[in-house]
Amino acid sequence: MPADRARSSDRANAAGATAALRRFADVNAVAAGFLRDLAYAQTSEPKMFGYKRAAAAVLALEEPLTSLIGPGGHLARIPGIGPASERVILEVLASGTSPTADAAVARSDRAADIARRRGLRGQFLSRAEVRRVLGDPRFGGPALADYRGDLQMHSEWSDGTPSLGDIAEACLARGYTHAAVTDHSYGLKIAGGMSMAEAAAQHEAIAQLNERYGGRFHLIKGVEANIDATGHLDLSAEEAACFELVLAAPHSRLRRSEDQTDRLLTAIATPGVHVLAHPRGRITGSRAGVLADWNKVFAAAAEHGVAVEIDGDPSRQDLDFSLAEGAFAAGCLFALDSDAHTTSQLAYAETAIAHARLAGIPSERIINCWPTDRLLAWLRGRRASSPP
Ligand SMILES: [Zn+2]
Repeated sequence: MPADRARSSDRANAAGATAALRRFADVNAVAAGFLRDLAYAQTSEPKMFGYKRAAAAVLALEEPLTSLIGPGGHLARIPGIGPASERVILEVLASGTSPTADAAVARSDRAADIARRRGLRGQFLSRAEVRRVLGDPRFGGPALADYRGDLQMHSEWSDGTPSLGDIAEACLARGYTHAAVTDHSYGLKIAGGMSMAEAAAQHEAIAQLNERYGGRFHLIKGVEANIDATGHLDLSAEEAACFELVLAAPHSRLRRSEDQTDRLLTAIATPGVHVLAHPRGRITGSRAGVLADWNKVFAAAAEHGVAVEIDGDPSRQDLDFSLAEGAFAAGCLFALDSDAHTTSQLAYAETAIAHARLAGIPSERIINCWPTDRLLAWLRGRRASSPP
């Protein structure tokens, strides 16, 4: 067999093995999906919230439901899950489906809306599935220990809760050597976007913090800029150059059915952009986000040296592993981020790492896995111009 054909059949075998590894059903995600269906089929608000709470509790479990069944066939007590939800869960564990939820949906006058929501739950991992993927050495891609710093999070300077000091301590506790605080820019008023004067004050506070940590930890001056309807940022080139790291992210027109490839290509080609963050803007069970020709988007990101993000917020998971595979093949760099708004949400980075493992992305392609000096040099090299 010619060498190139041998290589491509090796690749096919490797891809087949990865697909087989993935085939494990994410039983918590399946059960949570039926609980959500049931929530939307309720006419009583308290019942709807009860099932939604149960779904959230299942998605957040550290262990698969299969390991929480006792000898009598009962489910271990889980806060937020009552007898009605337990019945749905036991049905799913027994048969992979829930006749109770299906019957309620069929009776409901919201069946069409529920079907639409079902279609928006693809490639979302439960917390237990994230842990399985992180713990299984057969996956390629980054290990938790390879991850040196998180590059999207929000502080009290925009719509997050932690102070810069809280962030530094929480990141150190997670073993990071650096992190970027990326509060919203002024164009996103709804998220408490920072004015440029506030950004300057924040940068002063970050410089003082870095001084205090004396090389033990380094906070990077980032921003999450907003991509407008035409693909331009809400920051001028001079303003963008005031930040060490510029994420560009879509926050509007996320429920449109038309193609928005050109919008993303314009954002990618904007000088000074480092990362295309949560590229679709999808939300589980709610919206699909931007529709685009992703092969074109990834080819442009690779050409311009813009990293594409895997946002680990459990409701976003954007890109997910299936799209990330395409971005990897196109030659893209990746940023794996938590998008945390509290320090406990820094753990969301693990969801992003799990997707990168499912996509088999090597650490070399992941800017979070680079040593601080290498990352800072890369960030500097891409700044639009020197700050005034
Ligand atoms: Zn965002």
